[in-house]
Amino acid sequence: MAHSDTEVVIVGGGAAGIAAGRRLDDAGIDCLIVEARPRLGGRAWTIGDGLAFPIDLGCGWLHSADRNPWREIAEAQGCAIDRTPPPWTRISAPIGFSLSEQASFLEALQAFHQRLGALAEDAPDVAAATLLEPRGRWNALIGAVGTYASGSQLDRVSARDFSRYRDSGVNWRVVEGYGAVIATHAAGLPVVLGCPVRRIDHGGRRLRVETADGTITADAAIITLPSALLAEETLAFTPALHEKTAAAAGLPLGLDDKLFLSLSGADEFEQDSRVFGRTDRSATAAYHLRPFGRPQIEAYFGGPLAVELEADGVPAFVDFAVAELVGLLGSDFARRVKPLHLHPWGVDPFSRGSYSCALPGKADCRGALAAPVDDRLFFAGEACSASDFSTAHGAYLTGAAAADQAIAARRGKRST
Ligand SMILES: Cc1cc2nc3c(=O)[nH]c(=O)nc-3n(C[C@H](O)[C@H](O)[C@H](O)COP(=O)(O)OP(=O)(O)OC[C@H]3O[C@@H](n4cnc5c(N)ncnc54)[C@H](O)[C@@H]3O)c2cc1C
Repeated sequence: MAHSDTEVVIVGGGAAGIAAGRRLDDAGIDCLIVEARPRLGGRAWTIGDGLAFPIDLGCGWLHSADRNPWREIAEAQGCAIDRTPPPWTRISAPIGFSLSEQASFLEALQAFHQRLGALAEDAPDVAAATLLEPRGRWNALIGAVGTYASGSQLDRVSARDFSRYRDSGVNWRVVEGYGAVIATHAAGLPVVLGCPVRRIDHGGRRLRVETADGTITADAAIITLPSALLAEETLAFTPALHEKTAAAAGLPLGLDDKLFLSLSGADEFEQDSRVFGRTDRSATAAYHLRPFGRPQIEAYFGGPLAVELEADGVPAFVDFAVAELVGLLGSDFARRVKPLHLHPWGVDPFSRGSYSCALPGKADCRGALAAPVDDRLFFAGEACSASDFSTAHGAYLTGAAAADQAIAARRGKRST
């Protein structure tokens, strides 16, 4: 292997790993990103749609864009920022969902979020579902939206964790693609691709990082693997780190998948609007019509519905989406849409899901996962973020923080 020794090895080249690598490189610390896939970016992934537009199969929204470090990076790269307010904050054209129903639903959703936000920090960490209004009219649809936010049903999500999420309410997009911005940020960093790390032996004076392509020795490591992979111990530690495995198990990755469809006669629909397939059940997709004004539909599937459809393969998503859209817009509509792309994140061996949510009672696992071990094993990735989890900017902030911890530890050792 060309790079067999480094000061800090970074396991995983997603948003967190790239942020960490950039910070270490800027500080003059020798580092190496070791990435399992043949590409950088991880759950941030922009591809061409085969026609004219870049599409984001993973993260697409610059959440909390007014304080999101990727926004400034995107601007510095010369990318265009689209500031159109997201469809979930607005009333859309009344397709299967009257204007008054939409207003009533938004009110119920806001009230649910307020109940979550009012939870005292010392109250028992219950399931978010317990804060639904008993027999509330919109509970099924709030459950659907919960699966888009967490990838899980509300009875599998910690209310405390949900309430700790900090959302500035500003959501923008990158026209050229969020994933492209993140991968481009790694330009010039030392990287090995297609090289899964299998074990980190931290029993000796230096770390031995065993990869599919040989062993790397290092003084410190920043581990940025998705929590699902740490819980499954696809990366082993010697000696074992049982507390990390337990913390990661408390933060499973929920599942969300996006199906992109091309749409003919798109101008008939309002740009950046949204329809739900059904408003009376949780197993339904949300359809973002004409994202960026493009002739496309971005269908969003979450939770158990996404799990079930992944088990049946990509065509099952297309059939489901077409059936729901035909139910709303009539049988001729089936001829107007064609599948473009979907990536099944749940069966992807290097993510095994989309983004983390804490199980009820497990909100404090985020802090436990993020805690360094012996001042030389540092942990980063969206699941480590206390208040920006599940996002690409949360991943960035944890990656930069882990790099700062590694830099402080390296400088401390050099001066003694
Ligand atoms: C469908 C979908 C929609 C989303 N929408 C948004 C959104 O709109 N806005 C937002 O902010 N976030 C969104 N997210 C979440 C966001 O993409 C992630 O939170 C973020 O990209 C996670 O970054 P990370 O660095 O923590 O993890 P990852 O990106 O998963 O990086 C970890 C890296 O480790 C690598 N790896 C795995 N195993 C090994 C191994 N053994 N050895 C070496 N490398 C390994 C992986 O290949 C990966 O590159 C979305 C995600 C999905 C899937």
